Amino acid sequence: MITVVQNDKKGAKWGSGPRVLVLALVAAVLAAGCSRPDAVPGPAQGPQLYLAPPAQALQDYADRLRAATTARAAAARRWGLQRVPLPPPAPPADKPRIRTRPGFEVQHHEDWDLPPVFTTVPTRDKVVFLTIDDGAEKDPAFLRMMKDLKIPYSTFLSDYLVRDDYDYFRAVQDSGVTLNNHTLHHRYLRGRPYEEQEREICGMQDVMEREFGTRPRLFRPPYGAYDQNTLRAARSCGIRYAPIWNAEVFVDHWEFREADQRLHPGDIVLTHFRGRREWNGTMVDDMRRFLDHVTAHGFAVARLEDYLEDRLEDDA
Ligand SMILES: [Zn+2]
Repeated sequence: MITVVQNDKKGAKWGSGPRVLVLALVAAVLAAGCSRPDAVPGPAQGPQLYLAPPAQALQDYADRLRAATTARAAAARRWGLQRVPLPPPAPPADKPRIRTRPGFEVQHHEDWDLPPVFTTVPTRDKVVFLTIDDGAEKDPAFLRMMKDLKIPYSTFLSDYLVRDDYDYFRAVQDSGVTLNNHTLHHRYLRGRPYEEQEREICGMQDVMEREFGTRPRLFRPPYGAYDQNTLRAARSCGIRYAPIWNAEVFVDHWEFREADQRLHPGDIVLTHFRGRREWNGTMVDDMRRFLDHVTAHGFAVARLEDYLEDRLEDDA
C-alpha cells in the first residue's frame, strides 16, 4: 500500500493497518510546529480513510502522546532527574551545511575536501548533541538509563580501552547509537608522521568493521588535536566529519569553550565513559548532571548523525 506517509518513522513504529495511516497523518499535522508547511502531507487518498474516523484517530493520538509523556516523567523520576528531558524535534529534512569552524582550518581544508572540524552544528533547533568518548567504563546502569529515558548520543571509541569488552559496545550499538572512530591508542596525533596517524585512524576503521560491522564516517582526534596529516589520513579511509566539542560535562562540573559560558543551539557536548575509578561518581551521576542542566536551559538532546548529510556519494 503506497501512501503519503509511508516514510513516516512514527507511523511505522505504531504498527500497521489503515488506522495507523490516519494516525500518522494527524501526527504530521500536529507535530509540534516543527514541520514546514510544505512538509505536511496532503489529504490521503483511498478508502482506508473511511475505516478510521479522524476523531477516533485524534483521540488515539492524544492517548499515545499522554502515555509517552507519562512514561518519560516516570523514567525521569526513576533516574533521579530534577526535570523531565524535553523531546527533540524531528530530524531536519534538509541537513545543514557543515563547515570547519573559523580558526580551526588546516591548509587546503576545503579544496582538498578534508573532513570539516566543527564544535557546533548550524541549526535553530534548541538542541544539543551528546558525544561520549574513549570507553574505559562499561556501566550497565548507564545503558539502562539511556534506553529508559530515550536519550540519543554518539560514541567515539579508542580500541585500547574497549577491546576487553566489545560486547558492551555492541549493546550500545544495538540500542541505536552510532559507534565512531577515536583511534587505536588515543595518542596525541598533531605533529606525528602521516603513516603513524594513518595507522592510528585507519587501523581503528578496520577494528570497527571487524567488531561492529561498520566503518564510521565520524572521527574525533584524541584531545581535539589534529593537523593536515590527521585529516588527510582520516579522509583516506572513509571519514567524512571530524566533530569536536563546544562544551564538556564532567561528573561534578561543566566547561564551556565560549566566553559566555553557556550552551547554544547545535552545540556538541563531550563527556567520557568514566566511572568511580576515574572521577568521583558514576556515569549515571554524570548523565544526571548533563540532563538536568540541558533541560533547565530549555534544550533537548538530539542525535548528531541526524543533522549530518551522509555524503555516501563521495565514495563513488
Ligand atoms: Zn578521548
